[in-house]
Amino acid sequence: MRPEVVVLRYGHRLVRDARVTTHCCLVARAFGAKEIIINSEDKGLLQRIETVNKKWGGKFKIIFEPDWRKSFKKLKNNGFTIVHLTMYGEPINKLEEKIRKEKKIGIIIGSQKVEPAVYEESDYNISIGSQPHSEIAALAVFLDRLFNGKELEKKFPNAKLDATKVRKGKK
Ligand code: SAM
Repeated sequence: MRPEVVVLRYGHRLVRDARVTTHCCLVARAFGAKEIIINSEDKGLLQRIETVNKKWGGKFKIIFEPDWRKSFKKLKNNGFTIVHLTMYGEPINKLEEKIRKEKKIGIIIGSQKVEPAVYEESDYNISIGSQPHSEIAALAVFLDRLFNGKELEKKFPNAKLDATKVRKGKK
């Protein structure tokens, strides 16, 4: 999908953030990102997402890199525009059209308090509304705006399962 998207999950804490980070991975995968970078090595998380890939298809990747700055620099050197999602940023409604024109986007989402350098060094700080909510919700809304809803029709190659669209029940 275009633009190419990598998510950088800032500050994943083992155990404490397990469920939320899993959901960030699932949203990133389902809504069109190609990979997510996590700062703490987490085998359980890797296994959960690999199981999802095997059943539901695609090649979504998890990369572990403890130093967010290293990942940040690597993304910048590879031509990614960095978008940090924060309630303190500029409104998505104002910037979505401009951002859609980018070819490669690195999205930073927080967990614990994000250090000032992230705000300063990102190309954009963008808010999804100016109320505090969640990194999962912020990521989902941002990706949906970025891809204009087309990510919901994305095909995942080599899927063993497919949720058929039925009016009632599950198939
Ligand atoms: N005060 C934080 C902030 O800067 O948005 C809220 C912390 S929240 C527990 C964790 C993460 O959720 C944030 O780092 C941010 O990525 C995301 N988030 C929460 N509310 C948001 C909003 N209104 N707009 C964009 N991102 C948001």
